[in-house]
Amino acid sequence: MSPASLTVISDSVSVRVPAKVNLHLGVGPLRDDGYHDLVTVYQALSLYDDVTVARAAALGVTLRREGGRGADAADVPLDDDNLAIKAVRALGTWADRDPRVAIEIVKRIPVAGGMAGGSADAAGALVALAALWKLDLPRAELLEIAAGLGSDVPFSVQGGTAMGTGRGEQLMPMIARGELHWVLAFARDGLSTPAVFAELDRLRADHADAFDAHNPRPDALVQALTSGQPKQIAPLLHNDLQPAALSLQPGLRRTLRAGVDAGALNGIVSGSGPTCAFLCADADAAVAVAAELSGAGVARSVRTASGPVSGATRRQVPGQ
Ligand code: ATP
Repeated sequence: MSPASLTVISDSVSVRVPAKVNLHLGVGPLRDDGYHDLVTVYQALSLYDDVTVARAAALGVTLRREGGRGADAADVPLDDDNLAIKAVRALGTWADRDPRVAIEIVKRIPVAGGMAGGSADAAGALVALAALWKLDLPRAELLEIAAGLGSDVPFSVQGGTAMGTGRGEQLMPMIARGELHWVLAFARDGLSTPAVFAELDRLRADHADAFDAHNPRPDALVQALTSGQPKQIAPLLHNDLQPAALSLQPGLRRTLRAGVDAGALNGIVSGSGPTCAFLCADADAAVAVAAELSGAGVARSVRTASGPVSGATRRQVPGQ
């Protein structure tokens, strides 16, 4: 794609999309079709990618890192494999229109970090293009197109706090009172989601006694979330993928320990990792934990975030 073909012809729409953390991630046994049944509780956090879609002579995507927090842009394909490109193609098919748009992604969510960064970009591209084309797209159909793009994409559209079942794409919004304060520790290298699931299958096959494939619903967590009390929620954070992520990146044990030593209520690997997420008692505690964790040298970078926040939301940009 030559830069000229990305030249913007006219108007554009910008959408802000959050990262996610899984407060609970229960992974069922490997199914015959290669997938696992999941029971998960997602929360959208105040760490965002911005996705702008503008009319252009041809379809293309550019990516800009911001704040030094995104992983290397080279990790992200800028061809048809980019999830934002897949999203606009899928919406083009739905609307029977040629998606000649330039997509710009401002990346702050770590790549291959277990925070659904690619899914966020797909969700952002869908919502932005639907607005640019002024489509009359029912919410249910938007979520169906999103589910076709990836298990986490419907949640990136929806945001908030939600229970996900199936592959994680069947969502039920949840009541979560109050605001939770998190510290996020970004790792130096990413982890591939399929590699982490494969490692879990291997651990379960080799150590059936230690790694249960039973997948119960997180009833106690659901109850605790209605209380809004971080002290009640913290001990209930659970991630079946954590042993697999720790097996592939053993250094994450030190990161998790350092966060709790620094004063976090609990720490967990986010999704398939390797980002570690620490739940703190309040905003002040999160700032203190982040400062101490930064100094401990156990992560590439550290920042605070809060949740829940809204899903993909149109930004008011001057001139749009
Ligand atoms: P999840 O939490 O949903 O399992 P993740 O956050 O661990 O995913 P992503 O950042 O979504 O991982 O990226 C996984 C891979 O997807 C990347 O290594 C990259 O090759 C590919 N990818 C495609 N499009 C994008 C995009 N727009 N942003 C990031 N990665 C993308």
